Amino acid sequence: MKIIMLGAPGAGKGTQAKMIAAKYDIPHISTGDIFRANIKNGTELGAKAKEYMDKGLLVPDELVVDLVIDRFKEPDCEKGYVLDGFPRTIPQAEALDKALTAIGESVDYAINVEVPDDNIINRMGGRRACVGCGATYHIVYSPTKVEGKCDTCGGDLIIRDDDKPETVKNRLSVYHEQTQPLIDYYTNKGIIAEVDGTVDMKDVFNAIVGILGE
Ligand code: ADP
Ligand code: AMP
Repeated sequence: MKIIMLGAPGAGKGTQAKMIAAKYDIPHISTGDIFRANIKNGTELGAKAKEYMDKGLLVPDELVVDLVIDRFKEPDCEKGYVLDGFPRTIPQAEALDKALTAIGESVDYAINVEVPDDNIINRMGGRRACVGCGATYHIVYSPTKVEGKCDTCGGDLIIRDDDKPETVKNRLSVYHEQTQPLIDYYTNKGIIAEVDGTVDMKDVFNAIVGILGE
């Protein structure tokens, strides 16, 4: 099963993608996580990506596409994958289609997690990420057992650099301009599925399972 998660930054794509990956036993591929791991490890790609990420801009397509297409060649992708944060532009979607068509495959579902901009600003302000394992929490909606410490690995929690309010506003306008057109793109392909992302995370997930099947 090949799934794409669509939605504004902070809509809950990562939260849902992790649950989908666990239930359907497929890898969760997050381009944002891949870039953050590169930044943490001090790679050249990480340094290039950080310049854009810190400003709330998209990393150029040429730095993203090959990286994702190469990732599909790993053995854990045999049964499919859930893509979180890719594609984010029409050229990325076209590159994905081309790569899949070449091997006789295609995307099965593009799930759009719908959340209005006002809720997004609220969500991003409360998001916390673990420096150790990258797990995501929210100070109100998904708090850790011990404040400031990851439930999974005990690592310290931080506010992502790009979750500061000025950057979030930029990211939202970039989303509306460059990523939202993908909703029409996948609607035209007949594989879009819309879910209400404003309800409790478990209810969002139940709606997704209703679409993907048990
Ligand atoms: P994205 O991957 O789309 O950027 P995340 O999955 O990281 O978004 O979610 C953004 C923030 O909102 C996180 O702090 C997360 O815990 C919280 N969150 C996710 N889904 C919900 C929901 N349905 N209700 C309330 N908060 C949520
Ligand atoms: P995310 O973790 O998905 O919110 O991504 C964080 C940041 O990484 C984005 O704001 C972009 O700067 C960059 N990024 C992640 N995925 C992509 C992509 N597919 N194309 C361009 N930039 C991306």
